[in-house]
Amino acid sequence: MQHVDEVRDVSYFLKQDFIIMKIMKFGGTSVGRPERMHQVAQLITRDEEPKIVVLSALSGTTNSLVSIGEALSRGDKDAANQVIDKLDQHYQDFIIGLLQKEEYRKKAQQIIAEHFEFLHIILKISFNEALNKDILAQGELMSTKMFAVYLEEQGLTHALLPALEFMSIDFNEEPQIGTIRIRLNQLLEQYPGVKLFVTQGYISRNARGEVDNLKRGGSDYSASLIAAAVNASVCEIWTDIDGMHNNDPRVVKKTFPIEQLSFDEAAELAYFGAKILHPASIWPAQQYKIPVRLLNTMQPEAKGTLIVEEAGSVGVKAVAAKDGIIIVKIKSSRMLLAYGFLRKIFEVFEKYKTPIDMITTSEVAVSLTIDNPASLPQILKELEPFGDVEVTKNQTIIAIVGNQIAQTEDMLSRLFSALKSVPVRMVSYGGSSHNVSILIPGEYKLQTLQLLNMGLFGLE
Ligand code: ADP
Ligand code: ASP
Ligand code: MG
Repeated sequence: MQHVDEVRDVSYFLKQDFIIMKIMKFGGTSVGRPERMHQVAQLITRDEEPKIVVLSALSGTTNSLVSIGEALSRGDKDAANQVIDKLDQHYQDFIIGLLQKEEYRKKAQQIIAEHFEFLHIILKISFNEALNKDILAQGELMSTKMFAVYLEEQGLTHALLPALEFMSIDFNEEPQIGTIRIRLNQLLEQYPGVKLFVTQGYISRNARGEVDNLKRGGSDYSASLIAAAVNASVCEIWTDIDGMHNNDPRVVKKTFPIEQLSFDEAAELAYFGAKILHPASIWPAQQYKIPVRLLNTMQPEAKGTLIVEEAGSVGVKAVAAKDGIIIVKIKSSRMLLAYGFLRKIFEVFEKYKTPIDMITTSEVAVSLTIDNPASLPQILKELEPFGDVEVTKNQTIIAIVGNQIAQTEDMLSRLFSALKSVPVRMVSYGGSSHNVSILIPGEYKLQTLQLLNMGLFGLE
């Protein structure tokens, strides 16, 4: 992936006296209950360092907003209305728990009422994708505004920065880091003396100027982009677990937090399914050399995970799984060995903006995997002239990530003896020194993660 600054004039930055700031991002569960929001306010006021606090929507809200959009797209206004009313009630209760004084409760109620009014208006107009993005944006808008009212009630000086005024993506849905930098710094300049800023994760403008977002889990990405935009001292990702664990804690019983990861290792884990981080959230921090810390809101003193340039130690650190993988196999005894053949195949995937994750070749066939089925029918049609094309769905990539793992003694033998009972479909080894990936049928995912927990880490 190449991320190019579309703004090359750096003179703007050279005249700035940069204030060193830190970024603190809090995910859905960290703001999901009034008492958690109170705790967030405590965490952000523990030190005097200037900071930008990035908030997600309250846990569950984005899922509800997705279901409103889904109901509307099939024309089921009643179902959409029901979800809206339930959500409205949730926010009414939340405000009562969050705020003490009548004056501030009224203020928050008024703000929230406007958002629900908007959702009700949407019920009446014809639904389209741009409108869907507007619906999805309501969660982060509401959580940050309610939090700002709470800070006000607590007498804490702060400014709310509208993410829609600085966060943007281009026609390829890539963040425009140069533009984000300029816009955000211009906004910050409007608040001399203010040390505490709050903004929305996830939401952005797109190339058409419409409301858009950075995809599910995108608040981590926002935090990292904001950290890059202000040259932050650190980007802290506060969540409901004490750092990146060696395995998926939702699947295996015993897991442990990893003290340090390199940017490369963390990026691989995020990309290959470790839900704690959005798949693309590492590159901005890596490119601008900003340390990332994964921390636990519910256990603030826990060490968590530090992500920096250096890996800190050698060997296997963690495994992660990415579901919904599709194998596309092209069999062609006639053409495979001809030069230029692979290029032609890759061009088809490029044309449909479909990234390839894994690839293996043999004398008569090439197998590759994709995770985005959106253009699969068109891709298959264009691949037809190259040979027999076979598609297998519901596969899972298991990524084994660490530092210099390819050179780690016994790694491969331990890996494959642990997986004796699993039908491994593809293996990718040697692409980098910090990743070995295997492809398995989706139904073997739980078993595989459990077997690797024992085989690689000696844990249940
Ligand atoms: P947030 O709402 O704060 O963004 P997420 O739910 O997106 O939080 O991410 C945190 C969750 O990621 C954890 O509760 C955990 O279940 C899940 N997770 C999956 N894999 C890992 C891993 N390797 N290490 C830590 N957490 C993981
Ligand atoms: N609220 C968004 C989501 O649930 C973004 C985030 O939480 O990171 O996907
Ligand atoms: Mg998340």
